[in-house]
Amino acid sequence: MRPTGPLHLGHLFGALDNWVKLQDKYDCFFMVADWHAMMSEYEDPSRLSGFAKECVADWIACGIDPEKSIVFAQSHVKEHLELYMAFSNFVPLGWLERCPTYKEQLREIKTRELHTYAFLGYPVLQAADILIYKADTVPVGKDQVPHIELTNDIAERFNSLYGGIFPSVKPLLTKIPKLLGIDGRKMSKSYDNSISLGDTEDAIKKKCSAMFTDPERIKLSDKGRPEKCNVYAYYNLFKKEYAPEVYEYCTKAKSGCTECKKNLGGVISDYLADIRHKREGLLKDEDKINSILEKGAVKARKVAAETMNEVKKAIGLI
Ligand code: SF4
Repeated sequence: MRPTGPLHLGHLFGALDNWVKLQDKYDCFFMVADWHAMMSEYEDPSRLSGFAKECVADWIACGIDPEKSIVFAQSHVKEHLELYMAFSNFVPLGWLERCPTYKEQLREIKTRELHTYAFLGYPVLQAADILIYKADTVPVGKDQVPHIELTNDIAERFNSLYGGIFPSVKPLLTKIPKLLGIDGRKMSKSYDNSISLGDTEDAIKKKCSAMFTDPERIKLSDKGRPEKCNVYAYYNLFKKEYAPEVYEYCTKAKSGCTECKKNLGGVISDYLADIRHKREGLLKDEDKINSILEKGAVKARKVAAETMNEVKKAIGLI
């Protein structure tokens, strides 16, 4: 996860809930991808380290257990960059230029100059992040599947040039509930439409009161269409048992959107209360976060150094 800002509900439902479950089935490596964050934040990287610590606090508050899983920062394990360099030598430019997420981000992100050498090589570093641990499975969203395919192409190319070291990797796709931002677009920091895990109760209520609703329900007496309303979708996710009542009140025009959104603010705030409380406690204890990252880096480095040793031998550097 790139530490480029506070984590929000999209991260909770899109990744963290799933990661917490995966801990019981797999040996997991959870990485704060700070070098990846640099690729877009290179003009002002001063906040990255703070965001990285917040990221770890959020993970732990959501249920990631650093005793069970390896939690670390990418920049603390130098082997990621070494393997990235080893791969960079033979990855053809065409593989990177064709990458759909690369083209999409160049098109969509207008606030950063991303026509850089590092940004083009983003998937090569990603391949190194995965293969340095010889991971066999990576939990990803559908849009990231091409990166896993590219990782396998890179691994195969390495294996055919220097000898078989790397296993093939498979994506682990999980059904993720759809959660839009408060303005009805994809939830994203850059759209300023997200509810952060650390938002106060007041902030959550304020954001909920600004949520887009059924655009055809203008007056209190208008009957609403909950299936067209983002607020109703949130009820289904956060407090399903309230959804039938919300549906009835909406479709029969028994109560208004203002009240419906106000109540939702309370529901979300209650849902996040425990996470908020835990993350606040952790953020007050910076030593604890540093210690989690240091211990994680020691464990990660042990595996990464072994792989890098094999890689250097295969290439002939040692
Ligand atoms: Fe949406 Fe609630 Fe308004 Fe119905 S009453 S349109 S569910 S906000």
